[in-house]
Amino acid sequence: MRLILASHNAGKLAELQALLGPLGFELTSQSALDIDEPEETGLSFVENAILKARHAARISGLPALADDSGLCVDALGGAPGLYSARYAGAHGDHAANIDKLLHELRNTPQAERGARFVCVLALLRHAEDPEPLIAEGRWSGRILEQRAGEGGFGYDPVFFSPEHGISAAELDAAEKNRISHRARAFAALREKIAAL
Ligand code: IMP
Repeated sequence: MRLILASHNAGKLAELQALLGPLGFELTSQSALDIDEPEETGLSFVENAILKARHAARISGLPALADDSGLCVDALGGAPGLYSARYAGAHGDHAANIDKLLHELRNTPQAERGARFVCVLALLRHAEDPEPLIAEGRWSGRILEQRAGEGGFGYDPVFFSPEHGISAAELDAAEKNRISHRARAFAALREKIAAL
């Protein structure tokens, strides 16, 4: 079955094709069909994932899959959350986002620095599908007081993984791809598809 991936990220397309190919899906990126990105007006990851998938399904006439992800920090009431990419401004500058996060948490003790990465996937069989398949993955940890490691992207240098005892930016890329919020959401989606 052909499936539109509602994302312009080529890395995500390759990663997802490898995961969903064996289940009989052939993924096409929405950029290949010149589909623009809708405004992300939702107030939760699931709302934004659904509206992105619905937009792609409506324009293409094909089933569509979208993801939405971000970092939720307990001491900040879940922020930066939906706004993770543009926390420090519309430019989406990862270094500035981390600086802002560390500043906001400057007086927060270690025990209260709990956080998690969240990824929600939404698969719509068509634009009016009343039963979207929704899958969520979480990766819990805490926010470090300073950066550690050079790998990964986004908030990885300040996200400490308790199970590994190092930051996400210090983790081997293959290990991160195995246990991350995205990997967990994909695994959950695969199970839901297989159960259909
Ligand atoms: P998007 O869902 O690809 O738009 O990602 C939203 C934002 O969440 C990214 O720009 C990052 O700031 C943050 N984020 C999502 N996943 C990760 C991750 O695995 N590591 C670090 N930051 C992440």
